[in-house]
Amino acid sequence: MITLCEPDNAPCVAEIVNDRGESILIQTDWDWPGVASTFGWVPCQCGQTDGTVDCPHRKASEMIQEAGEWIRDHYGMEVEDPGYFGR
Ligand SMILES: [Zn+2]
Repeated sequence: MITLCEPDNAPCVAEIVNDRGESILIQTDWDWPGVASTFGWVPCQCGQTDGTVDCPHRKASEMIQEAGEWIRDHYGMEVEDPGYFGR
């Protein structure tokens, strides 16, 4: 399992921690949609974007900001690791 955490000593939005205590800092806002999606956020109902490209309904910049806010609202969530720490 991996947990979405608030970084202690970094100006980043998110840190992903696994059950072995290893962690990955999410450094750039372009990574927010992917991370948020891992934990259940959906960029757009149409399914034609991963949140980093425009779709017919939404701008990527708007989805990236929303993903960042979603992450801040969901610290502590746990999901199965989709591959952040390898297998
Ligand atoms: Zn759309």
